[in-house]
Amino acid sequence: MEKIRTILLFGAPGSGKGTQGKMLGTLPGFRHLACGDVFRSIDLNSEVGKVFLKYSSKGELVPDDFTVRLWREHVDKLIHTGAFKPADTVLVLDGIPRNVHQAKMLDQYIDVVKLICLRAVHNREEMVRRLKSRALKENRLDDANEKTIQHRLDVYDKESRPVLDCYPREKRVDVDALQTPIEVAHDILSAILGRTQELHVIEPSAVANTR
Ligand code: ADP
Repeated sequence: MEKIRTILLFGAPGSGKGTQGKMLGTLPGFRHLACGDVFRSIDLNSEVGKVFLKYSSKGELVPDDFTVRLWREHVDKLIHTGAFKPADTVLVLDGIPRNVHQAKMLDQYIDVVKLICLRAVHNREEMVRRLKSRALKENRLDDANEKTIQHRLDVYDKESRPVLDCYPREKRVDVDALQTPIEVAHDILSAILGRTQELHVIEPSAVANTR
């Protein structure tokens, strides 16, 4: 099977991947798929659902083999039902791959054409604030307490950030996640259209400190 043309949306929990992914998914030619949504669509009383809850409620990553198998089954189903047509649609992935091992496992399925990294340089407080406000709106267990949120941000720094180095630097565009949602959307669309000169540039010195 041909690899699926894919845009990866990358960024810490709270950086706005979900909001922006949903926006992109409404555009013709794009299909948004959030790994966390795949998990949350499962019956939490099923065996699979229980595994998800066990890890996500502690802010831990669900084991890789389990995650990638579930993701793969979900994508296959979308393709077989005609809900997603890879020949004329770009997949917008958010929340996967989340570590280097997952990136390697996904390599056989996806062709990453662009990596959009939502950056909140030196602003963990803002991520925490956004996650807390989401907890109230979306009834998310993993956003409910500060300790779990902080742990998820640590897991992102330690396990997910290195994923950036799995893809060629020229495919990556850094977008300032601290702008308003519509400004972030503007920068993402500019990046997709290749108009990177229109981006609100993040200070290179700030990025250097956060890789
Ligand atoms: P957030 O980006 O705010 O952390 P997600 O909805 O992407 O929220 O993920 C929620 C939880 O689902 C994660 O904390 C993790 O437990 C689990 N999860 C989602 N995607 C993955 C993945 N690719 N690998 C392992 N666990 C995942």
